[in-house]
Amino acid sequence: MSVPATWSSTEIVGEIAGAVVGGDLTDAEARLLDGPGSYPVADLCAAAARLRDRGKGKIVTFSPKVFIPLTHLCRDFCGYCTFRQNPQAAPRLYMSPEEVLAVAQAGQRLGCTEALFTLGERPEQRYPEARQWLAHRGYGSTLEYLTAMCQLVLEETTLLPHANPGTMSRRELAALQPFNPSMGLMLESVSPRLYQAGGPHEFAPSKRPRVRLRTIELAGELGIPFTTGILIGIGETRRERIEALLAIRRLHRTYGHVQEVIIQNFRAKPDTPMGAAPDAAGEDLLWTVAVARLLLGPEVNLQVPPNLSAQDYPAYLSAGINDWGGISPLTIDYVNPEAPWPGLAELEERTRSKGFELRPRLPVYPEFFLGSGNRLPDALKTRVAAQADRDGYVKGGMERYAGRN
Ligand code: SF4
Repeated sequence: MSVPATWSSTEIVGEIAGAVVGGDLTDAEARLLDGPGSYPVADLCAAAARLRDRGKGKIVTFSPKVFIPLTHLCRDFCGYCTFRQNPQAAPRLYMSPEEVLAVAQAGQRLGCTEALFTLGERPEQRYPEARQWLAHRGYGSTLEYLTAMCQLVLEETTLLPHANPGTMSRRELAALQPFNPSMGLMLESVSPRLYQAGGPHEFAPSKRPRVRLRTIELAGELGIPFTTGILIGIGETRRERIEALLAIRRLHRTYGHVQEVIIQNFRAKPDTPMGAAPDAAGEDLLWTVAVARLLLGPEVNLQVPPNLSAQDYPAYLSAGINDWGGISPLTIDYVNPEAPWPGLAELEERTRSKGFELRPRLPVYPEFFLGSGNRLPDALKTRVAAQADRDGYVKGGMERYAGRN
């Protein structure tokens, strides 16, 4: 794909969309999207939206969920994080099984279908308090305890766990697999500069791109439907974002397991090393979303969290997304506690105003468990199917949430 400087916007949009649909947008061509005199954002968005329509039609999804922050302890220190806590400051080291179950059961009563387990990375490697808490209950690691809690939720409620605990080994992924229809790990970035001195990942060994890519690869080898994505605005360049998206594309082309890609925008938080850094700009997010759609193609599920762009989130529909991610009627976004999720009535109305139909989905996308696309073990497939309608979305649709906000 090469575009003469004299071409009109319409010609550019047609050329980009044609190249992507034809499957011939090479890595080198993808890098041209950030080349000298790069394409106008509006043109990229138009081409991306056209691709999304081709692959996904006019259905936009969200996952009704509860957020279960199993532990805020973490061995790492990222420059933008307010989720992590030291043992001395944490109100509790880990949520107890009773607390986990209480949140899941409350979510079930509200019609939720996903139990999102997000937690700090291997705190037992840094804190003796964490090791002792786990050992006292018969667990050798946080991931062992997480596995037991996923099993508990799966057995005692109708919710489906989605574990998002950081980097994982093959053995740890395999242990979680029977209880998780999908799992996730944000790649965040492949920029080596971010973990050098002064970078946001200098003191976060789990954020090395190599180890994160390895976890995503292992999930692929095990056939686990997997969520990943990038975090933008933490010091990476646009070219580095393209490289991160290409790395995700390479893994997905090999294993076919990347069920969704999240484009998350950085938001500065007080009392963090990056507290004075500017938030990722809306135009920059639009550019990144559109480029992600163009690189990843019409079939990928592409998500922007609406609570991180509260005023103008519908704009991202025009850049090619087809999913809003997890929305909770019960629990806050513990990673971005200052950013409330929109109410479902508002989300549905604003999605409809752009010409789309909002549908609730399960934590695993339909194409990863229906028909020949099924990747789930039999027992888990049965549990998922019990919650799904004919098309693989949440049984009962939006009616299930009528009158709830
Ligand atoms: S972002 Fe995740 S890995 Fe980094 S400090 Fe926070 S909890 Fe730990």
